Amino acid sequence: MQVDYIIVGLGLAGLAFTRELESHKKSYIVFENNSQNSSIVAGGMYNPVILKRFTPVWNADVQLDIALPFYDELEKEFINKYHYKVDIYRVFKSVEEQNNWFVASDKPMLSKFMDSKIVQEKHEGIIADYGYGKLKNTGRIDTKRLLNDYREYLTNKNLLKTETFNYSNLEVNVENVKYGEVNASKVIFCEGFGLKKNPFFNNLPMQEAKGELLIIHAPNLNVDFLIKAAVFVLPLGNNYYKVGATFNWKDKTKLPTEKGKQELTKKLESFITVPYKIVEQIAGIRPTVKDRRPLVGKHSIHKNLAILNGLGTRGVMIAPMAAKALYNHLEYETALDEEIAIDRFY
Ligand SMILES: Cc1cc2nc3c(=O)[nH]c(=O)nc-3n(C[C@H](O)[C@H](O)[C@H](O)COP(=O)(O)OP(=O)(O)OC[C@H]3O[C@@H](n4cnc5c(N)ncnc54)[C@H](O)[C@@H]3O)c2cc1C
Repeated sequence: MQVDYIIVGLGLAGLAFTRELESHKKSYIVFENNSQNSSIVAGGMYNPVILKRFTPVWNADVQLDIALPFYDELEKEFINKYHYKVDIYRVFKSVEEQNNWFVASDKPMLSKFMDSKIVQEKHEGIIADYGYGKLKNTGRIDTKRLLNDYREYLTNKNLLKTETFNYSNLEVNVENVKYGEVNASKVIFCEGFGLKKNPFFNNLPMQEAKGELLIIHAPNLNVDFLIKAAVFVLPLGNNYYKVGATFNWKDKTKLPTEKGKQELTKKLESFITVPYKIVEQIAGIRPTVKDRRPLVGKHSIHKNLAILNGLGTRGVMIAPMAAKALYNHLEYETALDEEIAIDRFY
């Protein structure tokens, strides 16, 4: 079998890169072993404002300009719903926070997203003595549904191999690579935290962070916006909500834990007073990098091996932009932005 590209990993990074290949009519084959599930469990939110400090997310404008049409296009093609507009209500803890919000909402990049008015409306079951700051033009991508559909699509086209990519079986030559019966021009590694097992790139400084989430049913919590306080409460419809997330830099498994559950319920009950039932607990490992920027680029010696990783806590926004940058770099030698190029670590 002869293809232009082998892709290892089908989370948001792998999906974004294969879309780039399809739009340029390149052939490819994907390997996916279900060892990681960050993209599947993710909250799926896109939000260009850091809610702790009320500052803009790095490069958010550029990322959103590419990401939103990217997901809307997928919706049209697969005739399914993935993109939900969801406002975010940030619960204030003090008058000082209200003032900081007000000042930030006047800044050029932020005014499009931050409503300068302090929201004082009351909502049953939510403690918000100082009101809320409202973020608009934010939303959620149903990454689980999207990836399910995409896997099915690739399976039907015979482009997905549900197996582990075994690095020691890869033969790397100057002009091409060979993996079993597959001959390809290039390999793109998109393994998320699976990067740790990749002998070509595991020297890069990933500082992965496990995250746990709960799915709850709260029949009396009638909100259609995301509430952000000690944790976020994200509406999924029919009174189901995703609650999250924890950050754990020690535990390297994707298994939900009792400790994670306790932490989430304690934080949830600090601002939600209505009854709720936990229906599911999920966990995954965020592929976060030391400097909180993606890992994009070619191997320092083997120029036909490349990486698309390090999407950290914001894969929904970053993946389409980073995939485009990598494709242009590989096919047209367009320079990568210094902030995302892995050269910064060589
Ligand atoms: C709890 C939690 C909440 C989050 N919430 C949000 C959010 O609200 N918004 C947001 O933008 N981001 C969020 N994220 C972050 C987001 O999930 C990540 O940035 C993104 O999903 C990473 O995508 P990826 O494709 O790089 O990695 P992954 O999703 O981990 O995908 C890597 C894929 O590679 C496969 N793989 C690995 N090794 C091999 C191998 N050797 N052979 C074959 N296949 C292999 C794995 O099985 C996996 O499917 C959250 C993450 C977590 C854990």
